[in-house]
Amino acid sequence: MTKEKLIIIGSGPAGLTAALYTARAELSPLVFEGETPGGQLMGTTEIENWPGAEEGLMGPQLVTRMREQAKKFGARTEFKTIDKVDFSDSSNLKLWSGETEYNAEAVIIATGASARWLGLGKGEEKYWGKGYTACATCDGAFYRDKVVAVVGGGDSACEEASFLTRFASKVYQIYRGPQEKMRASKPMQKRVIDNEKIELIFNKNVTDLRGENKLEAVEITDAVTGETSELKIDGLFMAIGHNPNTKIFAGQLDLHDNEYLKVEGNTKSKISSVFIAGDCADFRYRQAVTAAGMGCMAALDTEKYLESLKG
Ligand code: NDP
Repeated sequence: MTKEKLIIIGSGPAGLTAALYTARAELSPLVFEGETPGGQLMGTTEIENWPGAEEGLMGPQLVTRMREQAKKFGARTEFKTIDKVDFSDSSNLKLWSGETEYNAEAVIIATGASARWLGLGKGEEKYWGKGYTACATCDGAFYRDKVVAVVGGGDSACEEASFLTRFASKVYQIYRGPQEKMRASKPMQKRVIDNEKIELIFNKNVTDLRGENKLEAVEITDAVTGETSELKIDGLFMAIGHNPNTKIFAGQLDLHDNEYLKVEGNTKSKISSVFIAGDCADFRYRQAVTAAGMGCMAALDTEKYLESLKG
């Protein structure tokens, strides 16, 4: 079995930027693209906040460009998922995709995070990107003078609801519990309560998405009485948390209580040959451009590490 110099796990902006930098440094990285090649960007529509792309870019288009740019300099990509790792020997890292074992001198983890969805099953994906989204920063501006709703009672939901009032004419914030159970900090709660454009709806779950070709309304069900009603909206923004894609590293690397990877310094893990980038570690900024920045940092740190092995 040939030993790779560098394996990158993940193909969102963090993984593909790390691939570009390390490919240009002639490390010939092997990128495992994972279950959702391109990551969360594949589910976004137009990206207006990618610096330098004044004309705007579609999420999948940006991913394709990043992948091709990295490949141009020698990165190799595999449409496979790494589902097991053994980092016990830092000089010979072991990774598996199914039954196939791969060995590497260094690994960059850029497995990202996945937004939580309602989990209504059948039909949910029909509205994905057509009124049903998980990123107010990305999509908010498309809802100028429209009526939208945010689901969640945490800081993210409050922040997204406040942000959306810049564009939308009305914002509902739908929380499944009573007001006193809201997890959002008191200042964040005050911000939404004081905002005239926001109407808080408590003890309600979104139980159905409706509309012909795009989202036009949701069914909401009272968590106490079970009574249902319909709410007409143009956009539904999920803010019920993210799940970092870090399960395979449990027991090998340090994780925070919220299961995001712990980073030492800038991109280091507790294993000298394993580096970390992007949303699998970042639960604060979660932007494509910050993930790309961290991918660059991890690439430079990895290069330095591999250089140091030469003695
Ligand atoms: P949280 O886990 O704090 O909140 C998730 C919210 O979603 C809760 O209201 C939860 O309800 C609700 N929820 C979860 N699952 C479902 C479901 N299936 N259906 C309906 N509702 C659901 O996540 P956040 O993303 O808001 O925050 C994550 C972390 O980031 C927190 O530590 C937060 O403080 C931090 N953060 C800080 C910010 C800031 O300081 N400016 C901004 C954004 C985030 P329930 O409470 O009933 O479980």
